[in-house]
Amino acid sequence: MARRPAHLPLDGEVRADVAVVGGGLAGLSAALELAQRGRSVVLLEGQRVGWAASGRNGGQALPGLACDMAEIEAQLGLGDARRIWAMTIEALTLIHARRDRHRIACDWQSGALTVAVSARKAAALRAWVERMAEVYDYRQQWLDPSALPLHIRSARYASGVYDRRSGHLHPLKYVLGLAHAAWQAGAVIHEHTAVTGIERHRSVTLLRTAQGQVMADQVLLAGNVHLTGSAGLAGLPATPAARIMPVGTYVAVTEPLAPAQMDALLPTRAAVCDNNFSLDYFRPTADQRLLYGGKVSYSTVTPPNLAARMRAHIVRTFPSLAHTPITHAWGGFVDITMNRAPEFVRLPADGAASAPIYLVQGFSGHGLALTGLAGKLVAEAMCGEAGRFDVFGRLRHRPFPGGERLRTPTLVLGMLWHRLRDLL
Ligand SMILES: Cc1cc2nc3c(=O)[nH]c(=O)nc-3n(C[C@H](O)[C@H](O)[C@H](O)COP(=O)(O)OP(=O)(O)OC[C@H]3O[C@@H](n4cnc5c(N)ncnc54)[C@H](O)[C@@H]3O)c2cc1C
Repeated sequence: MARRPAHLPLDGEVRADVAVVGGGLAGLSAALELAQRGRSVVLLEGQRVGWAASGRNGGQALPGLACDMAEIEAQLGLGDARRIWAMTIEALTLIHARRDRHRIACDWQSGALTVAVSARKAAALRAWVERMAEVYDYRQQWLDPSALPLHIRSARYASGVYDRRSGHLHPLKYVLGLAHAAWQAGAVIHEHTAVTGIERHRSVTLLRTAQGQVMADQVLLAGNVHLTGSAGLAGLPATPAARIMPVGTYVAVTEPLAPAQMDALLPTRAAVCDNNFSLDYFRPTADQRLLYGGKVSYSTVTPPNLAARMRAHIVRTFPSLAHTPITHAWGGFVDITMNRAPEFVRLPADGAASAPIYLVQGFSGHGLALTGLAGKLVAEAMCGEAGRFDVFGRLRHRPFPGGERLRTPTLVLGMLWHRLRDLL
């Protein structure tokens, strides 16, 4: 797809009502919403808009959170858990509303399946579907083995559930469309502009970059796992970064398939995700390729022979694609939290007079829809309507045990345990 011209790097000193750090879906959503509300907004992106998870994800737009709603109920009670669930549905409608209002051509396709690889997993899926209907009034269509081929033709799956409200889209097209909408609404975007320092003063916060600085009344940090970057981010408290862990996850895409070939795999063109802890997810693209995501890694190095490794995942699900060329393979980082719930936080003021800094992170691989809502809730809070932001803000988060050096081995052990359980 054609890349639009770059937004120029910041050069010099500017003043704004709001500064946003990060040109992913969360930051752009907040920038759009605030600009529409008449605020002057400057968004600083260290690379290019959509460069990170927001432009390279699997494209599955789903309700809910990466964690089960039971985690939210245990922390906040059923009333607030229901409010959060309803907001995750709103996150999906927000995609449609923005796509229509700003004419974002992002290849939306309705329908998503969750599938189970074993009878044990199918029982867990069924229990989840029934509870979501009973407690959250969220109704999906149960598919027993005889109904499954309506949507997916793979011997790997025992049964599944179809959700007509979920769907999939081309994430880079969507994020670039959102950036264009924010820019048209008046937000100023600077690419290749990493924020390297934050200074909090009595009534403004100052963000330093290589060639300039922004002074803003309010600040949103939406930098995900890249926030502290290679150059570091002076002046940022260390604690939020300790509560997320970067995990690499990978995607591969086949060459375009003939329509009949795609019909024989995914006849309704729905997105698919299994309910394993370490999950596989895939979907057809608008040009009839199979886009397949699955592998995770805990190092920051892309695994060698990525395409070949992804092929193993693809062939396990669709053996007929054993010799179909893979044309692209890439990875990105997700920001997981200990409990897989997202973290919406105001960093405490340094002294009574300084303004809080908003930070959203920890979408744990389930942020395509939810980051859009997160940006909207930050905008509401910055404009004095903090009620909805604060519902998420009440969720408590713990740092990963082991500190920066030992958190990875600790997590690997934990994940291994869950993977073993997937195999049982
Ligand atoms: C491979 C992959 C597949 C995924 N698949 C799905 C999926 O199918 N469905 C789903 O719901 N979710 C999926 N996700 C997760 C989803 O993409 C993310 O939750 C979401 O995009 C996060 O958006 P964000 O705006 O918080 O962060 P990001 O998109 O990571 O954006 C953060 C931006 O901030 C910038 N930045 C950071 N620090 C600074 C700084 N100091 N100065 C300036 N700029 C800075 C970065 O350059 C980056 O562009 C996937 C993620 C990956 C990696």
